[in-house]
Amino acid sequence: MKQNLFGKNVAELQDVLAPLGLPKFRAKQIAQWMYEKGATSFDEMTNLSKDLRARLSDAFEIFLATPKDILQSKDGKTSKYLLAFADGTAVESVLMRQPYGNSICISTQAGCAMGCAFCASTLHGRARDLTAGEMLAEVVFIDQLLRKEGQKVDTMVLMGSGEPLMNYDNVLAFLHLVHDEAVFGMSYRSITLSTSGIVPNIYRLADEGIPVSLSISLHAPEDALRSTLMPINRKYPMADVIAAGKAYGDKTKRRVTYEYILIDGVNDSEQHAAELAKLLHGQLASVNLIPINPVVERHLLRPSQARIDAFEKALADRHIAVTVRREMGTDINAACGQLRNRHLDSNKDEEK
Ligand code: SAH
Repeated sequence: MKQNLFGKNVAELQDVLAPLGLPKFRAKQIAQWMYEKGATSFDEMTNLSKDLRARLSDAFEIFLATPKDILQSKDGKTSKYLLAFADGTAVESVLMRQPYGNSICISTQAGCAMGCAFCASTLHGRARDLTAGEMLAEVVFIDQLLRKEGQKVDTMVLMGSGEPLMNYDNVLAFLHLVHDEAVFGMSYRSITLSTSGIVPNIYRLADEGIPVSLSISLHAPEDALRSTLMPINRKYPMADVIAAGKAYGDKTKRRVTYEYILIDGVNDSEQHAAELAKLLHGQLASVNLIPINPVVERHLLRPSQARIDAFEKALADRHIAVTVRREMGTDINAACGQLRNRHLDSNKDEEK
């Protein structure tokens, strides 16, 4: 099997190309072809000799991912891609054309082990962690499509399937890779990492010296309810999660966002809002309210607009910075994991 060069930085390329006895600048040239010019074959690399191109093609390949399914929302603003990697494992990546630029949502694991009650990504458990190169492939795949329109990826959220802080080393390597000027050159400030609250790794991330924004999925203002929605709360209770969020904000000077899915009759009362406000009082933090994308398998429903408005107002009245997530792409089921599940389920049906 040929070794894949995609996802390697210049130093790593130098290492793998060493057996061919190439001068070091060749690695840089190959990186330029792959990452700046979007080359996926060695034949395109016209500043390399024909002989070298042939030797490279014999030993290596440049493989990003194969699109298995693409869905476009009717308004054209949201596109969802099911991308398969070399071993056939497929994940979802989403492009959202926002007023402030092109934002993408990246998966960090195939499936998820966290078991959150409202989330489609976890229904089939976790298949495996993604590598740094695979996460980069999600970014570059979408960026190459945008480039054809004279556009590019502007901002990125690690909010697709998976828990990024349970795949810490690969995610960290990916953040360095996507930031690398010779690879993609994305600024850390354009990146948001979302976590269900893996407390020790929030502290670790704060010490890495990379100012990515942190989002913490809270979804409830007290432990008992949070534990029913998010089993990880039994291991890392809410007070510890919020202390870690505060430490992250203090250290990085980045405002931490708390995500709060609104679920009808479960966590959306004014009492819940008041408790939430008390919890976050005095923190450099904001709340992002997310009216739930109903997941049929889970029987959890979206509150009425009146209840959503009342919850938002109850927070704002208590001086909590609050936004309500703009809905995008619900007509293509942009809730994380739903496309992949359909793919897995239809494969199952085919096997029957
Ligand atoms: N594991 C990480 C990142 C993936 S989830 C985390 O928990 O933050 C990314 C965001 O999507 C989280 O806030 C998650 O709670 C939210 N989400 C999951 N299922 C959803 C649904 N059915 N409707 C709306 N948001 C959902």
